[in-house]
Amino acid sequence: MSWLSNIPPGIKNIFKPKDDNSDGLWTKCPGCGEMIFQRDLDAAHQVCPSCDHHLAIGPAERLALLFDNGEFEEIDLPEPVTDPLKFRDEKKYVDRLKENRRKTGQQDAMRAAHGTVDGVTVVAMVQSFRFMGGSMGMALGEAMLKAAEAAIERRAPLIVFAASGGARMQEGILSLMQMPRTTIAVQMVKEAGLPYIVVLTDPTTGGVTASYAMLGDVNIAEPGALICFAGPRVIEQTIREKLPEGFQRSEFLLEKGMVDMVVRRADMKATLSKLIRVLVKERRQGVASAPAKATAPAKIAKLPKPKTTALKETPKLDKAAE
Ligand SMILES: [Zn+2]
Repeated sequence: MSWLSNIPPGIKNIFKPKDDNSDGLWTKCPGCGEMIFQRDLDAAHQVCPSCDHHLAIGPAERLALLFDNGEFEEIDLPEPVTDPLKFRDEKKYVDRLKENRRKTGQQDAMRAAHGTVDGVTVVAMVQSFRFMGGSMGMALGEAMLKAAEAAIERRAPLIVFAASGGARMQEGILSLMQMPRTTIAVQMVKEAGLPYIVVLTDPTTGGVTASYAMLGDVNIAEPGALICFAGPRVIEQTIREKLPEGFQRSEFLLEKGMVDMVVRRADMKATLSKLIRVLVKERRQGVASAPAKATAPAKIAKLPKPKTTALKETPKLDKAAE
């Protein structure tokens, strides 16, 4: 045993590089392999100046980029029961959570905030891949419902920046139950006549792709993002065929009609702002013209029904979770 292994982890952390992918000063671009000066990368909001590869961006920076003057107010998210299954793999799930909370300074993978985008009030959610691979557990389900309620309360559009490895296996069936729960959250926003926009970032996979991440009125993807249910390696092994170039990447999915737009990070705010204006105006016009049509009022009257059942169902799921 060398003397190095006797150093307590607290001291080791001081000398550890800031991020796994960088030595603090230089970062190797996963797209072109070039070494980029960290300051240049920060100035370009984590987009490679040489090849335009979009690297991961922190949730706080993402929110600051979206909201006017980088100002926003975080929405307090509920904390559900921790580790209901007393799960343990190589580590205890509770220890894993603690470690990720310390690493990211977040309670769980999802963060929510409200602010204005070109003067329009917006509720936005950002999923952090650094927190246990952005996995979807009970906390995420709660966060989606809370953000949906916040959007309805403020009559604001809801934007979700998704990044996830899928459902959180440490929560077993309870994590899978978040697929219908998050879908209910999206439905609540839609029934209130508010726009719901998804921005798919690298990577968005598994149960997240199979629920709220594909339900946007508009589904936007960042360039080169991996977006899939099962990953390319799994598919390749199952069908025993070589997959085409760029399979399951944003541009490929745009061509196949799975996503509506591929938008560069630099153009994201302007695009979202334009979309919000169009969608909000469209919905307002829809409501205003509704009384003129004979069938429209009946449609509107029917709307609250599924909403109340959805709300009744949610606490039931909570009890099951406890
Ligand atoms: Zn590059």
